[in-house]
Amino acid sequence: MHRATFGLFSSAILALVATCSAQTPSTDKPKFTPIPGYDPSTMDTSADPCVNFYQYACGNFAKVHPIPGDLPAFSPGANLYEINTQLLHGTVEKATAGGTNRSANEQKIGDFYQSCINTDAIDKQGITPLQPELDLIAALSSKQQLPELIAHLNKMSVGVFLDFGSLQDFKDATQEIAYIDQGGLGLPEKDYYLRDDAKSKETRTQYVAHLANVLKLLGEPQQQAETHAKKIMELETALAKSSAGVVERRDPEKIYHMMTLAEFSKIAPGVEAEKYMQWIGSPSVDRLNVVSPDFFKAFDQTIQQTDLDTIKAYLRVHLADSFSARLPKAFDEEHFDFFGRKLEGTPEQQARWKRCVNSVDASLGEALGQLYVQQYFPPDMKEKSLNYVHDIEAAMEKDLDQLDWMSPETKVKAKEKLHSVANKIGYPDKWRDYSKLEVKPGDALGNSVRARKFENAYQLNKIGKPIDRGEWGMTPPTVNAYYNPSMNDINFPAGILEPPYFDKNASDPTNFGQIGAVVGHELTHGFDDQGAKFDAKGNLHDWWTAEDKTKFEVKTKCLEDEYSQFTAVDDVKVNGKLTLGENTADNGGLRLALMAMLANAAKTGADLSQKTNGYTPEQQFFIGYGQSWCSNERPEYLRMVAQTDPHSPDAIRVTGVIVNTPEFAKVFGCKTGQPMAPAKSCRVW
Ligand SMILES: [Zn+2]
Repeated sequence: MHRATFGLFSSAILALVATCSAQTPSTDKPKFTPIPGYDPSTMDTSADPCVNFYQYACGNFAKVHPIPGDLPAFSPGANLYEINTQLLHGTVEKATAGGTNRSANEQKIGDFYQSCINTDAIDKQGITPLQPELDLIAALSSKQQLPELIAHLNKMSVGVFLDFGSLQDFKDATQEIAYIDQGGLGLPEKDYYLRDDAKSKETRTQYVAHLANVLKLLGEPQQQAETHAKKIMELETALAKSSAGVVERRDPEKIYHMMTLAEFSKIAPGVEAEKYMQWIGSPSVDRLNVVSPDFFKAFDQTIQQTDLDTIKAYLRVHLADSFSARLPKAFDEEHFDFFGRKLEGTPEQQARWKRCVNSVDASLGEALGQLYVQQYFPPDMKEKSLNYVHDIEAAMEKDLDQLDWMSPETKVKAKEKLHSVANKIGYPDKWRDYSKLEVKPGDALGNSVRARKFENAYQLNKIGKPIDRGEWGMTPPTVNAYYNPSMNDINFPAGILEPPYFDKNASDPTNFGQIGAVVGHELTHGFDDQGAKFDAKGNLHDWWTAEDKTKFEVKTKCLEDEYSQFTAVDDVKVNGKLTLGENTADNGGLRLALMAMLANAAKTGADLSQKTNGYTPEQQFFIGYGQSWCSNERPEYLRMVAQTDPHSPDAIRVTGVIVNTPEFAKVFGCKTGQPMAPAKSCRVW
């Protein structure tokens, strides 16, 4: 929660584990090869860079890289994800092959993977492994017993009704606290239940059919399943109505409401918070962050208005959907058909081996990551990457010095924050201990249940304790990066420090346009519309003078209005409010990377008029940036991204930034008034 990412993927791509059908033999030849930092094959040099720079840098990308049938979109990031998945596959298979010399972690990795990949055994067992949980739901005889069952299901990350966990205290970043939050929706977010355009209505009809299909697979007769599905939809719609929306949830002030247990129990006695915490295995606390109070104010009434029979059907459906990838093929296929095919437009389920490798990464991330970095992340990569980070940080220092709108007083605070940013590269200094997680051969569902409980126990165990600043929020092979405002740190997993982002065969300017812009993006998050509300220590604390704050807000409003005019897909516009933080980071990130590239060129004495491959260093820089966001996205997926993702669609991440960077026009000889060189533009940092 509350982490600003580079956003190469919406988490949906990786989390949505779709069906498997045939098991892909491990002898499959790798299909994906690295995309270089500078890739002329995907450019369209017949286009005018001053008219549409995305077309110029990426115009042939879709032709060269059609979207694989099992992905909702394809991009250099998705390509690297596929390559990393292949590498991890080799690591996992080695652990699966076994032998008595396996380390304890290798046994867990190997047996987890082996049980996941064996679909014959999973099909043979049917729903038997899930039966004890289904029996618990069937035994629910009154609503008074509901909170204990919710806690039991939440403990294994079945997201029914609400969400409970731990997070850093926004106002005291040294401490980890408990939070309770809205939850319980099957569709991506609240507005999916409430919008009344034709496409949204169609999605809801498809979702209700999906609910009915899952109930039928669980043994309900058709008529009964359809009736239940409609009633579940009514229940979820009620939960959606009291939920907060995606824009509101970006604002730390709107998701921070410290309450005593007594205060919380007054607004939602039905949750039985004190007992719920015992049931879920949380340390007892007397205060917690009630992330979404409005949701809980309506909670008891929603439960009262829903009959017990519907509640039980709702719990059954979400239990089965949550574990569909460890259930017989029909469940897995049904899950993919709605969440993959209909919601994202992806025609085919990912191969089983890919999904099982991803599951190992999700469940045993630092055990697998440890093997991954040993093999694929040479020790000098940390140092090489840090050089870019230091160059970008120096650029931000200079940028702050040069700002004409910020007072010296606020500049001191901004620099204090900049100097306090922790740089985390590659992987954690200390690996997590998985010794208490039991992984059994041949127990696919049981392994998943235990892994989820293990993860929850780990998160809840932090409550009431000081923060571990060495902790990572992404696994080492992840192709992404993030800034965490409470930690005030920027994080670059080993998985992204590869071509095209970091290409040792590419020129310095190209690398500054690629990985330099990634680093600049994360660093700027510390100073975007929300990040700027946190101080050097990671506390939600206003360090701005009132006058500077007002000027800053005028500047971010310019970006909000500008991006709101861009079209994401069909009739769907970019949500300028939802994407403001990411757009600020994209714009600031490119500027910092450009400054760092020029400073580096001055230091090394590089000749800025010297062309390579026909391009000056500055042109190489912009092409490198443009090519980092080449992509090919399915329309259904673009629609979902526009409605839920705080990042703008990829093509807009190129042109939206370019129009705000006047240096681009100079470097490419554009005339003021051309599409990529507007007379008026926006600048925050
Ligand atoms: Zn970001």
